[in-house]
Amino acid sequence: MLKDIATPIRTKEILKKYGFSFKKSLGQNFLIDPNILRNITEHAGLTKNTAAIEIGPGIGALTEQLARTSGKVLAFEIDQRLIPILKDTLSPYNNVTIVNEDVLKADVKAVMDQELQGFDDIMVVANLPYYVTTPIILKLLMEKLPIRGICVMLQKEVGDRISAKPGTKEYGSLSIAIQYYTEAEMVMTVPKTVFMPQPNVDSAVIRLTKREKPPVDVKDEDFLFFITRSSFAQRRKTILNNLTSQLPNGKEKKEAILEALQSAGVDPTRRGETLSIEEFALLSDHLLPNFKK
Ligand code: SAM
Repeated sequence: MLKDIATPIRTKEILKKYGFSFKKSLGQNFLIDPNILRNITEHAGLTKNTAAIEIGPGIGALTEQLARTSGKVLAFEIDQRLIPILKDTLSPYNNVTIVNEDVLKADVKAVMDQELQGFDDIMVVANLPYYVTTPIILKLLMEKLPIRGICVMLQKEVGDRISAKPGTKEYGSLSIAIQYYTEAEMVMTVPKTVFMPQPNVDSAVIRLTKREKPPVDVKDEDFLFFITRSSFAQRRKTILNNLTSQLPNGKEKKEAILEALQSAGVDPTRRGETLSIEEFALLSDHLLPNFKK
């Protein structure tokens, strides 16, 4: 049996065979530790009834593990140079489909409909390219794809922000957007030594489990996210100052903002980082009639 792709020796052999050079601009840091891969797939809770969607298979290190532990793998890879390599490295597996597309531009739902028919348990599992971690996660959640969740390697600092609780310095509009759709848990931190080449930042694995329904009822989701982004525009400012400077005609409509804050039971001198999602939802509903663009 062939050695796992995710070993330093086999990875070096593959890179050499194809004369492959890493593109930093595409966030190419490949995993070279089979134990980490097993940990990731275990945390993702895969079975042969699960389909896995991978973003950025690289030379197939994680893809191989996913092919072994799930029923089907659908992987999006932007770098055309990797396509023939993947064809070779993944040739022992017949349950993998590689799509040579930028996941941010791809019609993921249409590809899922075509490739993952018959699977009702679908999980996104990836070692994400760090330059686009947040846009990828937000896209997958906001497009409301029929997935159970997302279990991915990312920069630890982004993982901290995603899973942050109110009142901490990491808590912000990203925490709220993601916790609105999912329950977020940081499941492990990962040393730099498991990557080739090693990234400059610390890494972690986060698991996002989609909620059946959002934790709060809100009249307009997009407006809620607009209000949370506005409330954190300058972290040191009060919520009142941020909202007056960020909302359209906010300065002229200061009275309306104050009224909305009062109706939502939020002291105007508080900072955004102290508000729970429930408070933001209430505030957003009270601001909506006056500020919906
Ligand atoms: N999964 C492999 C592993 O763990 O060894 C590689 C992970 S590497 C951190 C990120 C991968 O994402 C690279 O293969 C890179 O080419 C690919 N990638 C970067 N941007 C992408 C995008 N927008 N859409 C799809 N793949 C992308």
